[in-house]
Amino acid sequence: MSERAAPFHCPYCGDEDLRPNETGHGAWECAACNRAFQLKFLGLLTRGVPHNDGGGDEI
Ligand SMILES: [Zn+2]
Repeated sequence: MSERAAPFHCPYCGDEDLRPNETGHGAWECAACNRAFQLKFLGLLTRGVPHNDGGGDEI
């Protein structure tokens, strides 16, 4: 699985000037507020992934 998750806005100040942090693994730093943060995949929700098994358009 690739580490492609990229934030579009800083979760702290909302700025868009984000760049990858040297530590990698989903780590980003915000040039506006000088914060570094990390995105982490926590897992799938318990309800799972919606299945489209070709059952047709029921609705
Ligand atoms: Zn920021």
